[in-house]
Amino acid sequence: MTSATPLGWSLIGASDIAETRMIPAIVAQPDSRVVAVMSSSAERARDYAARNDIPRAYDALDALLADPAVDVVYISTTNDLHHDQTIAAARAGKHVLCEKPLALTVEEAREMVEACAAGVVLGTNHHLRNAVTHRALRRLISDGAIGQPLAARVFHAVYLPPRLQGWRVTAPAAGGGVIFDITVHDADTLRFVLDDEATEATALAARQGLAAGELEDAVMGVLRFGRGALAQHHDAFTVRHARTGFEVHGTDGSLYAEDVMTQDPVWRVTLRRDGAAIEEIDVGAPEDLYARSVRLFNAAVRGEGAPAATGEDGVRSLAIALAVRQSVATSSSSQ
Ligand code: NDP
Repeated sequence: MTSATPLGWSLIGASDIAETRMIPAIVAQPDSRVVAVMSSSAERARDYAARNDIPRAYDALDALLADPAVDVVYISTTNDLHHDQTIAAARAGKHVLCEKPLALTVEEAREMVEACAAGVVLGTNHHLRNAVTHRALRRLISDGAIGQPLAARVFHAVYLPPRLQGWRVTAPAAGGGVIFDITVHDADTLRFVLDDEATEATALAARQGLAAGELEDAVMGVLRFGRGALAQHHDAFTVRHARTGFEVHGTDGSLYAEDVMTQDPVWRVTLRRDGAAIEEIDVGAPEDLYARSVRLFNAAVRGEGAPAATGEDGVRSLAIALAVRQSVATSSSSQ
């Protein structure tokens, strides 16, 4: 591979997110292209490849990993499969951009980081930290615009589109449930914006009509961060009409970001301070969240910088999601 050769990306998982977001993001970069897809079903792999103009289709991981045209794998299978597929890819010398949650346990996620540390790049596809809005929030806080952050509120209650109402709401073993799906993104975005680590979690979950069995489709919780801020989060698959948002309240001001916990944020951030008019922040030029993820990953593979979210970021967001799950599991009824 020379610096002029486009990186060969391969999809592990014939998934919705790869088709709707990641293939367009990969092919939008001048230095990457999609060379193969793998599905557990040969027929689905073939159909998916044909539909998305992908040259090769595989139904076995070993065959895909033996393909010399593959430099990078993007793993977007169900959450239970990420660990083994990442380890196998790392052993085959392929760089890995893996979907969140990295794994179902912190131990597994750490094994993934270790396997990749031996010589390939590992990234976690936490798309929201690529938003110009969240990057502006982080910058403003770091520059002292609101003083000491005291509290954050994350509004991430949405309605799960019918086409995605499969394993997420029916299959605990696949890593279903709203905490692994959405809270894990909040965890990463809060860590990123506050530039701080969560130390404690408490939460209650509910089943509000979509999730089956032991899975939850709604959760509200509070996280405590190391420098003292408390962060509230509401995540759901069941809320049709709410706006999303991210607020941070500090000793000297409050930041409001509206409609930003989405794949297509609308780029609005305001700052409110005593005695000053509400200020609309110029957050800068937007870039598609997934395109930025691929752009930074490609650069990291070429030795320039790091992925937008590293493997270690994926371990930490998973640890927070697991702490939320643990709190839900041990919460007692007040009745
Ligand atoms: P999908 O349900 O679309 O795909 C997951 C797996 O389901 C695929 O690998 C595929 O298996 C199987 N599958 C897909 N379609 C069918 C079908 N018609 N019949 C049988 N099996 C099928 O999942 P998502 O794309 O929604 O999510 C995949 C991963 O991406 C998850 O880890 C999720 O958390 C993450 N994600 C991340 C997002 C982000 O913004 N960062 C957004 C959405 C999801 P096979 O490959 O074997 O064919």
